[in-house]
Amino acid sequence: MRFTCSLAKLWMPGYVDSPATPGLHNHLETCLGCQAEMAKYKRLHRELASLGPVTELAPAGFVAGVGVAIAEGVATVDTPERGYTAAIAVTGATLVALGAAAFLRRRHAHSVG
Ligand SMILES: [Zn+2]
Repeated sequence: MRFTCSLAKLWMPGYVDSPATPGLHNHLETCLGCQAEMAKYKRLHRELASLGPVTELAPAGFVAGVGVAIAEGVATVDTPERGYTAAIAVTGATLVALGAAAFLRRRHAHSVG
């Protein structure tokens, strides 16, 4: 398989921490653009690996508020499937918000300390 840059970029994330396939390896040896892209993936991988587990306590009333929002979402839709979708959307948005808050706190802690 001949690796083009677009194909190499699709494969790179899967080989950040393991040896590249021969085709990807050969492409990376000759393509400066893809070498730079792979370097970005490796830097991102190192930074993510350096993040330890973070435990965030939810603000008072947060869990109850999410429960109410989910219950209201289920109660206002007309089919169970849409209710589950609303509940999953609220839960997903909550998890994203908690993750973003943890990430920003971590970044702030690194920039201050
Ligand atoms: Zn390339």
